Amino acid sequence: MSNSQEFDVLIVGSGLAGLSAALHLAPTHRVAVLTKRAMSDGSSGWAQGGIAAVLGEGDTFASHVDDTLVAGAGLSDPEATRFVVEHAPESIAWLRELGVPFSEEDGQLHLTREGGHSARRIVHVTDATGAAVQRTMIEHVRRTPNITLLEHHTLVDLITGKKRGMPVNRCLGLYALDESTDEVVTFRAPHTILATGGAGKVYLYTTNPDTATGDGIAAAWRAGCRVTNMEFIQFHPTCLYHPSVKSYLITEAVRGEGGRLLLPQSAGGTRFMPQHDARAELAPRDIVARAIDFEMKKHGIDCVYLDISHQPEAFVKEHFPNIYARCLELGIDITKQPIPVVPAAHYTCGGIHTDLNARTDLTGLHAIGETAYTGLHGANRLASNSLVECMVFARSVATDIMATPLPLPPEVPGWDDSRVTDADESVVISHNWDELRRFMWDYVGIVRTNKRLERALHRIALLQREIHEFYANFHVTRDLLELRNLVLVAELIVRSAQARHESRGLHFSRDYPEAMPNPLPTTLVP
Ligand SMILES: Cc1cc2nc3c(=O)[nH]c(=O)nc-3n(C[C@H](O)[C@H](O)[C@H](O)COP(=O)(O)OP(=O)(O)OC[C@H]3O[C@@H](n4cnc5c(N)ncnc54)[C@H](O)[C@@H]3O)c2cc1C
Repeated sequence: MSNSQEFDVLIVGSGLAGLSAALHLAPTHRVAVLTKRAMSDGSSGWAQGGIAAVLGEGDTFASHVDDTLVAGAGLSDPEATRFVVEHAPESIAWLRELGVPFSEEDGQLHLTREGGHSARRIVHVTDATGAAVQRTMIEHVRRTPNITLLEHHTLVDLITGKKRGMPVNRCLGLYALDESTDEVVTFRAPHTILATGGAGKVYLYTTNPDTATGDGIAAAWRAGCRVTNMEFIQFHPTCLYHPSVKSYLITEAVRGEGGRLLLPQSAGGTRFMPQHDARAELAPRDIVARAIDFEMKKHGIDCVYLDISHQPEAFVKEHFPNIYARCLELGIDITKQPIPVVPAAHYTCGGIHTDLNARTDLTGLHAIGETAYTGLHGANRLASNSLVECMVFARSVATDIMATPLPLPPEVPGWDDSRVTDADESVVISHNWDELRRFMWDYVGIVRTNKRLERALHRIALLQREIHEFYANFHVTRDLLELRNLVLVAELIVRSAQARHESRGLHFSRDYPEAMPNPLPTTLVP
């Protein structure tokens, strides 16, 4: 394969955002989808709960908008919210046309309910929605001749006119590490779309897959794009707590269907959510996560319990077949026993600043999905609003690219690694990964203070020096690229958290416990 390739559109990421955009663009454009592992790796395939859309009798757009704005705690952009909510039903219709086998009841879509939603409006495929959607997408993408799939290709950096000393700054394409040859390949295209997902791996405990290292956010920042609201990291309240299992989420729908949060027997075994919020277990995620954090710290316990065993056995097995089977493998029969759970980093609400066309600050560069900040999620994300955001903005980006063609960028020089050698000390990379994730968890987690944020920033600066030295002197590897991106994203999270002198939504500071009037998003400018 040549070391330089050229397409009409480059899409980085094969999650729901990237694949939806590829399918929309393929009839008119030659599209390359680059993805750093296998096609199905990413958060999309892991989504359990479902996709929010107004489809039920009596439900209204206004109600979905209101629920989203309430969860967003004063920082969701009303225009972006209306845009997503109003386009959500057509996204579901599109997925049904593609053949996604959504769960039905009496011949109608079955709509479930989740925390923060005032109506049943979550379409789902039992409790493995993301996997079913992703499978269907991949089948279509593989059959589409205009889409070239490049697995095990990791974005290294975007190529910009500015970096190349050209008079006009625009995105010219990107460099990607091809792991099959261990070479960095140059890709050129008039349009590049970042669909690289979130950054949960910046924290020690996360529900996210290993791909979620914030690569797109870091690359866009280095290319001169603004990022917004990076302080708002959603911690999912209920990740399975088990020594041999990493990142297994217990869906919100378990609480939606009556699941109760209990203290362990050693701490009394009682239900605690009603003392924290009138909505009890159906309160928004940030409130539930903080309540669990509070109870764990108060009682010095490692986890709390989520109990659905009071529901009939058949009901539990029918609604949560995958969670039932997975827990049973681990010796927990959820029809009879409560599930041990802890909070874990789950969703990156902020990201690359984009508009309703998914444009970033750089001509020729768009961003969609979890890597983007669209204004929808504000200070907190409403459950099941993210998959729909991926699809709505995948459609927007395609429409925008079709309406505004750009010329093919000029030739650019290939990646120069003539002066670097192979790293002899990979332990430095794995050590720094561990260190970063642990102090982000301890200092920049669910509850923050000025002192802890300062401490974190100090350590980030030390790590950045070491990582920069590695990047400048050694051949790039995926681990190194991810670490370089994670540490930059960590810096953006801390700087955003420092800029917010209040507590709001997912950002809670002991030094500023109150919410301020007239809040604004936190936008960092490179
Ligand atoms: C356990 C879990 C459950 C969830 N449940 C729900 C739910 O029920 N409903 C809901 O709405 N949302 C849910 N979410 C959130 C939702 O799944 C994600 O927000 C959404 O899937 C993001 O899609 P995406 O396409 O933006 O990113 P992803 O699906 O994460 O895809 C990102 C892609 O980018 C690739 N990539 C990343 N960096 C690079 C790089 N440097 N080079 C090349 N490729 C790269 C990855 O390999 C991957 O293919 C859940 C998330 C998790 C983790």
